[in-house]
Order: sequence, then C-alpha cells, then structure tokens
Amino acid sequence: MKLNILLLPGDGIGVEVTREAVKVLNHVAVAYGHEVAYSEGLLGGIAIHKTGNPFPDETRELALKADATLMGAVGLPEFDNAPPEKRPERGLLGIRKTLGVYANLRPVRSYSALLDSSPLKNELVDGTDMIIVRELTGGLYYGTPRGISGSGAEEKAVNTMVYTRPEIERVTRMAFQLARKRRKKVTSVDKSNVLENSQLWRRVVTEIAAEFPDVTLDHLLVDNCAMQLVLNPKRFDVVLTENLFGDILSDEGAVLAGSIGMLPSASIGEQRPSGAWVGLYEPVHGSAPDIAGQNKANPLGAIGSVAAMLEYSFGLVEEAQAVNRAMEEVLNSGRVTADLKPAGTPATTNQVGDAICAALGAGRAVTA
Ligand code: NAD
Repeated sequence: MKLNILLLPGDGIGVEVTREAVKVLNHVAVAYGHEVAYSEGLLGGIAIHKTGNPFPDETRELALKADATLMGAVGLPEFDNAPPEKRPERGLLGIRKTLGVYANLRPVRSYSALLDSSPLKNELVDGTDMIIVRELTGGLYYGTPRGISGSGAEEKAVNTMVYTRPEIERVTRMAFQLARKRRKKVTSVDKSNVLENSQLWRRVVTEIAAEFPDVTLDHLLVDNCAMQLVLNPKRFDVVLTENLFGDILSDEGAVLAGSIGMLPSASIGEQRPSGAWVGLYEPVHGSAPDIAGQNKANPLGAIGSVAAMLEYSFGLVEEAQAVNRAMEEVLNSGRVTADLKPAGTPATTNQVGDAICAALGAGRAVTA
C-alpha cells in the first residue's frame, strides 16, 4: 500500500517525538512491504517565526493533498501573551477545520507495566480498553449566537449548543463501525434529562443503531458516565458523545493510562477516493517547553498515534497491532523515559524509538 503522509512536527518536543514516530513508521513500512511518501509542513510557533502565520497557506495545501497528517505539538512560551490570531495554537484549529475532521478518537487502555502509575486501584483499571469518540466540529464550541455583552449588573454571556441531524448521524456511524471491529458495544453519553439537544442526540443515535444490529447500544447520562469511568472503566468499549462532554470525559479517561506522554489521538473526517480516511494524528500532550531539546520526552503517545493512523486511515489492523504489541513489550522491559519512573536509568527519547523498532522485528515482508 502507498501511504501519503504529511508531517507537521511543530514546536518543542513535537519535533523530537515526531522523529521517533517516523522512525517506527519507516520500520513498519519496510517490514510489511508498504511505501510511504512524506511531505513536511510548518505549523504553530515555528510557522509564525518563518512566515508570520501559525497555519500558512502552503501547509493548508499540503494537508489537503495528504491521506493522513501526523502532528507533533504546537506552542512556545514566547507567544503566551500574543493575540489569539498570532498564537501557535491557532494553527491547530486551522488544520482541524481544513481537514473537516469531525470525530476525535481517543483510545484509552491500561498497560500492565503502568498500573501503578494510575490513581485507581490496579484491579479496577487492569484490562481497561476503550475508545472515546468525541464529536469535534459542532455543539457549544461552535454554536452562535455567542459572546459577552452589556456591563455592570447587565453584563451577560451567551453560548449556544447546536447539533443538526446529519452531524449526529455521521459521528454515530463512525462509532458503530469502530465497535464492529472491537467488542461490539457502543455507549452513547448525553444529558437528555435536561437538554433538548441531547434528546435529539439520543433519538438519532438510537435510529442509526438499527443499521448495526450486531452492535449493542446503551445510553448513559454524562454525570453517571463520569462516575462509571472511574468506578468500572472495563464496562466501556466505544463511548460516543458530543463535543463538550467528550472534551471533559476524554481527559478523565486519559488519567487511567498513567502518563500524558502515553496518549495518542486521532481525528477523522471523510473517506478519500483512494479509500483512506482523512485523519489527523497527534499525541495528546503539548510541546512541553520544560523538557524540550533534552531528548527526555516520552515518544509513545506519538508512536501510538502512528498505530492509530495505520488502523483508522489505512485499515492496516495487523500493522497497528504489531506497533501496540511492541509498545507493550518495551513498557514491560522497563526501557522507558523518566515520566514513567523506571527503576533504573531512564531511556532517552530516541532509545525508546529504537527499542520499539527492535521489538517490532522483521515483520511480515521479511519473514514471509
Ligand atoms: P504539556 O502537555 O506540554 O506539558 C505538561 C507537563 O507534562 C509538562 O511537565 C511536560 O514536561 C510533561 N509532558 C508532556 N508531554 C510529555 C512527554 N511526551 N514526555 C514526558 N513528559 C511530558 O502541556 P502545557 O505545559 O500545559 O503546555 C505547553 C505548551 O503546549 C503550551 O503552549 C500549550 O498551549 C501547548 N499545547 C499544545 C497542545 C497540542 O499541540 N495539541 C496540547 C496541549 C498544550
């Protein structure tokens, strides 16, 4: 298969972890007989420095041509007080909007080597394996009218939560398609006891579920879901929810995995004529200015994002599973970066990348 990938390393540790992710992707490509064509673009602080714009037109064009985009992280402390349109983070919104990625997927799973890093009891978190599917381009974050008006006792703020039926339908279908390849269970999360918006959400999700008779659907109110995530995380397979609830629940889910450096994310849009799903893949963490340039960053969130890209954009499930298994093997070996508090000397960023490639071994093409 030919994989047409845009790299946006961005700022700080984004550059370091993306380098290791590319190393792993190249290794997988050779081992499984795929061809990867890379382009590279500017995004975030580096883009402001070089072009004056956090999301230059050239990056936009490259993103539209690529099948999938692998991003590092954006953000530099020197822009902390800059106006919003001159901040690196504006680049993130730009690329998400350009690609039309409407579903954010956050895999949350426990690794036995990291059970002690979770704030929950080991027996509660052991065996957790879920994906949170968050609607990404609608709801309260985008609805109008919005704004702050008036002054003194008359001052007020308004945000509007809007969902259309097609917006709910497309993200629901994606969640059910994912569930079909997993344990065939979708939990839809809403606040339908209070919000009309959620009543429509629940009704449309239930209708779409009829297209997937092999997948079980249940509904949870968001407050109960927040509780169940820490009481019984193993009950979840695919969690489907709207933008604001997903923002909050996915961070709660993230804690289960142990370290922020471990967490991948995938944002998915429409299917290209090539068959690939448009996707933006990035670790959940930021540019970590406190450790940037020191070869200390944990690259596993970025490497996990490569696994997500192989699976969701290209349907290469076997390759994705091989990367996930290699990550598990390296975690068990204790050859990990300082954030995971290894017993011995912490590994460097590039040593972890090398260890993943070694654990991947020769793969299918060479062993076949
Ligand atoms: P951060 O995620 O960069 O760092 C938070 C803490 O976690 C830091 O102590 C950092 O050293 C540690 N950390 C993060 N990733 C790590 C990794 N891979 N390995 C080891 N330790 C890791 O969040 P922050 O400090 O709040 O933000 C720093 C900058 O990143 C800001 O400019 C912010 O806007 C930006 N940011 C960008 C994104 C993104 O690009 N998607 C996400 C969050 C924050």
